[in-house]
Amino acid sequence: MSTVIPIREAASGCGEAPVLRERGQREVFCGLTGIIWLHRKIQDAFFLVVGSRTCAHLIQSAAGVMIFAEPRFATAIIDERDLAGLADCNDELDRVVTRLLERRPEIKLLFLVGSCPSEVIKLDLSRAASRLSGRFSPDVRVLNYSGSGIETTFTQGEDACLAALVPSLPASHASAPAALLVVGTLADVVEDQFTRLFAQLGFGTDKPAVRFFPPRSANDLPEVGPNTKFLLAQPFLADTARALEGRGAERLAAPFPLGVEGTTAWLRAAADAFGVDAATFDKVTAAGRERATNALARHRLQLAGKRVFFFPDSQLEIPIARFLARELGMHLVEVGTPYLHRQHLAEELDMLPAGTLLSEGQHVENQLDRCREARPDIVVCGLGLANPLEAEGMTTKWAIELVFTPIQGYDQAADLAELFARPLVRRMKLVA
Ligand code: SF4
Repeated sequence: MSTVIPIREAASGCGEAPVLRERGQREVFCGLTGIIWLHRKIQDAFFLVVGSRTCAHLIQSAAGVMIFAEPRFATAIIDERDLAGLADCNDELDRVVTRLLERRPEIKLLFLVGSCPSEVIKLDLSRAASRLSGRFSPDVRVLNYSGSGIETTFTQGEDACLAALVPSLPASHASAPAALLVVGTLADVVEDQFTRLFAQLGFGTDKPAVRFFPPRSANDLPEVGPNTKFLLAQPFLADTARALEGRGAERLAAPFPLGVEGTTAWLRAAADAFGVDAATFDKVTAAGRERATNALARHRLQLAGKRVFFFPDSQLEIPIARFLARELGMHLVEVGTPYLHRQHLAEELDMLPAGTLLSEGQHVENQLDRCREARPDIVVCGLGLANPLEAEGMTTKWAIELVFTPIQGYDQAADLAELFARPLVRRMKLVA
């Protein structure tokens, strides 16, 4: 079923455009996928999926080739006896967790991750988490969230994980000075670059140092409270933002730090909120802006005028589409997103070219029909759609690669452009 609804009244850019809202069959990964980048970020956390062999295969095939040390995720398999109600899953889960924590004393934070099977048998993981936390704290904190594939998309796994962690954040003192929190998993290299830029803007000297959430260590959770202002680094953190606001924190409205424009506006939102003067801001960001603009120029030659079609997948679609259109001159045929969070994406929507076709949700057959008819130069989609579309002669880009690759900030702008230029150049060589 498809319906067209207006998204917002009075606004410039794409804010005035209608959105095609679709419901139907979808082609997306489930939230378990988030474990792959979350376990790399929080280096003393362990993710125990309570699921089936299918869940275990998904995680292993997504991460398998990248494991060099003992992995910090695993699956506790629910078998037929559990599904038939013949075994006590809670006893079994307690045994698995006890064995794991005895063997791996470096684990400080354990997530029990729910799945479709654990939800089908109504295994109460929040009770299990508080029971196990009571037993293993203060050495290990045990939390739970759902990575289930029912009615979700894969980046929601990170949102659910971080939202589950928010209640554990220590409360900041009421008289503490205002502090900035950057929210959303960023690759360490990107986090380090932003840390340096924020330091040059005065964070850590005349104002508190910037904190990042999630932190690299479970024992280094940032404080939160009414004096916390937070910047979202990822556009898929609706529940996490709501939980932080519930703790009194204030979200700074900004586009996302993709490309020169997005990165500058994102940094400026923090600078303005903390009283950094315009001259200092321009001086601190000038070198990064210039480097990124120069690096983008050669990709613009390859990408300008090319037509791109987004299937809904990662929830990064709108910020990336804005970057491709405005900084590389690409034409947006359709920008599909699984969910449209109007408030968090307001600045992005205003920057999209007027008339961009936005779609929310998915009816995959209808969308495939529109894509085939439009014959775009490049299609951004999930793995399940990429192979059939390539077989039909279309050039594709896997949406999941955009989440696994460091793409935020000035020094990654050209890398993001290259992710689109590379498959197009490869296709041109194949055709030649
Ligand atoms: S959580 Fe559900 S969708 Fe995800 S791998 Fe397990 S069974 Fe499949």
